[in-house]
Amino acid sequence: MTLSRTPPDAPDTLLIVLGDQLDRRADALDALDPRRDAIWMAEVEHEISRVPSHKRRIALFLSAMRHFKNDLQATGFTVHYHELHIDASTDRGGTFGEVLAADLTRLKPKRLMVTRPGDWRVLRDLEETAVSAGLVLEIVEDAHFMCEPATFDNWIAGRRRILLEDFYRFMRKRHRVLLGDDDQPLGGAWNFDADNRASFGREGPGPLPTVPRFAPDETTAGVLDLVAARWPTNPGELEGFAEPVTPKQARTALATFISERLEKFGDAQDALWQGESELFHSRLSAILNLKLLDPREVIAAAETAGRQSRAPLNAVEGFIRQIIGWREFVRGVYWHFMPSYADLNALSCDDRDVPKFFWDADTDMACVADAMRSVLKLGYAHHIQRLMVLGLFAQLVGVHPYRFHEWHMALYLDAVDWASLPNTLGMSQFGDGGIVGTKPYCATGKYIDRQGNHCANCRYAPDVATGPKACPFTTLYWDFLARHREQLGEIHRMGFQLRNLDRKKPQELAQIRSEAGQLRERLLRGEKC
Ligand code: FAD
Ligand code: SF4
Repeated sequence: MTLSRTPPDAPDTLLIVLGDQLDRRADALDALDPRRDAIWMAEVEHEISRVPSHKRRIALFLSAMRHFKNDLQATGFTVHYHELHIDASTDRGGTFGEVLAADLTRLKPKRLMVTRPGDWRVLRDLEETAVSAGLVLEIVEDAHFMCEPATFDNWIAGRRRILLEDFYRFMRKRHRVLLGDDDQPLGGAWNFDADNRASFGREGPGPLPTVPRFAPDETTAGVLDLVAARWPTNPGELEGFAEPVTPKQARTALATFISERLEKFGDAQDALWQGESELFHSRLSAILNLKLLDPREVIAAAETAGRQSRAPLNAVEGFIRQIIGWREFVRGVYWHFMPSYADLNALSCDDRDVPKFFWDADTDMACVADAMRSVLKLGYAHHIQRLMVLGLFAQLVGVHPYRFHEWHMALYLDAVDWASLPNTLGMSQFGDGGIVGTKPYCATGKYIDRQGNHCANCRYAPDVATGPKACPFTTLYWDFLARHREQLGEIHRMGFQLRNLDRKKPQELAQIRSEAGQLRERLLRGEKC
């Protein structure tokens, strides 16, 4: 354990700062007096190993935490910081709660405070630890977010339907984003999504601007050595680690996105292209979720670019909708419906895990292999790869929605419980039965073919459902519809897809379902396709 300056007396207030709360502007930090109060942070093996975390993800969290600790100390704060070491025998072991409990006994703070954690389980763990130490845990709302859980609860109260679009308009008006002088939406519409569904066409995306990379400094280099030595068999690559780990670097990443990629963000939002996962996406999610970047700053930068005609409105509106709309919406859903949300399994899936190639990219499906290579290399895949390639495959196979969430938590740099759970279990797997999305996102391989160039380089054919050339997505899609026919029949927006299912000749459908069954069995045995 590294102890920075030890206060002579017990701190009046001990503020717990978690690994995704690296926000210098946090209200809880503002409330501290460095002369009397102290901060507590911990790297805990147990948290890292709960799921087999991607090496890059561990490195990002630890490096950003250590930079944050250094910054706090440089401005006069006392930080009690538990560091993990290459030699594990010198660590303080135990769970997060156990490590904290031992320090509460030793430090004897009068008050214990934390900003609302991003994980319901962690919140409960901290509350229980506090009670055992005879303290009440004071929870400060996280001002990083633009919609407090209570405001979301009020917004939801009495609504017949919970729709992102309604919430998004509420948030635009509430925060006066992209509004004209007449309080009407800029450009005359709230949403330009119809302009944002293009693919690149045969010529592809053309030369792509590079995403800024940040050479590791001494702190990051130490973390990289630690991760390489301690978790050598964990998934993912460390080589070429160049993620932003400080607020300054995060702002550079934002500025580069606004000047080089925002312009085409809208047009290319749903497009896929072999070997390219970053395309015109911002790659800001991980640094936003660690709180190195403030969403208001991100929105203001995009809005200014739009008002100054440096980016078209469909791109600016589409991007801002992701931040003030989707990001805040899924967090609202998380806190409104937890803890029971995590148990939802609307399609009654068996306790089935993700296929083996979700860990090693060893599959003949060109679209899945490409997305998985990006995940293993960068801890990143863009939204359509997550939703309409990897998520779609998991859903069609029948992976349990919570298992899909656990897998996602392990491998993505931006995965934190409040964001991952509604997106994986809800939006992607329809496990919540229609809270986050109004219908399952299900499609055949033909959708993937339309959005990019993978199918041209694949041993399968997207429009074939049976036989050796059958695209697994297409085979599994019809089987998925037939398997859940009754339940999906109650969803109005599934009508078109189900009418197409009903047009299939019984013999053809029986053949598809038999091949789908064999495929699902093979995947259960760990075989590839
Ligand atoms: P861009 O495409 O540039 O989008 C801009 C920003 O909007 C993102 O940085 C992100 O902060 C925000 N955003 C967009 N969509 C969402 C959304 N649905 N939920 C939350 N924020 C959103 N995002 C996470 O931050 N953490 C997760 O754990 C996560 N899990 C996901 C799991 C699945 C199955 C799916 C389909 C989506 C998930 N998302 C998650 C949402 C989204 O895919 C990522 O935020 C996005 O791909 C990150 O890349 P980017 O920064 O380049 O985003
Ligand atoms: Fe993916 Fe099917 Fe296209 Fe192959 S044919 S790339 S598996 S959608």
